[in-house]
Amino acid sequence: MDRYIRQIPVIGERGQERLIDSSVLIVGAGGLGSVVLTYLASAGVGRIGIVDGDIVEEHNLQRQFVHAGKIGKNKAISAMDFVERLNPNVEVEAYPFNVNEKNVKVAKHYDVVALCPDNFEVRLILNDFCIENGIPFVHGAVYGFEGEVTTVIGSPCYRCLYLKFPKQKNSTPIMGFTCGVTGSIQSAEVIKVILDMEVLKGRLLRFDLRSMDFFEVKYDRDSRCICKK
Ligand SMILES: [Zn+2]
Repeated sequence: MDRYIRQIPVIGERGQERLIDSSVLIVGAGGLGSVVLTYLASAGVGRIGIVDGDIVEEHNLQRQFVHAGKIGKNKAISAMDFVERLNPNVEVEAYPFNVNEKNVKVAKHYDVVALCPDNFEVRLILNDFCIENGIPFVHGAVYGFEGEVTTVIGSPCYRCLYLKFPKQKNSTPIMGFTCGVTGSIQSAEVIKVILDMEVLKGRLLRFDLRSMDFFEVKYDRDSRCICKK
């Protein structure tokens, strides 16, 4: 408990125990995932799963700091090594594959999902799986100086927010610090879900770090959405 002595005055011993008893699946160990897994592991989330099938490349290190010195390694394995060094009390599992409709069921073994992938396809697969299985998830996305976060606990879901999704570009331009801000907000949301605190449900937080505008878009269930009520 000594490790958590500075945060126990904030969340209480009961809150700390709840974190230790909780499990989170982090989908994507890239720019957002690096931040989220760092703060969840250091806060003492008891069990963390990391899904990523990609290999660390040099241009990832501009923002994916957990992979320092790991060029050529699988990102889930590399991230697992990082978590084990950061907080040996955390039980960590690496899933070295990219999420598809068949393997998404791994999410069933976790209390909360942190959605940190780099494409819409994975977001939608997880959205649908989490809605069907009643698993809360925290969405984060980044583009250049801009980021967004929302938390889905049942309806309204991520599909309700957009309904139509643009074609994915091969690689999006991104500043490292945008991942830092966005991933930190996602970490806060995941921890608040675990602690039963108010979260960004039905609220999309958007920000632009160029103008420093932070604003919210409220959204409801869209009746055309395929998600179940
Ligand atoms: Zn929906």
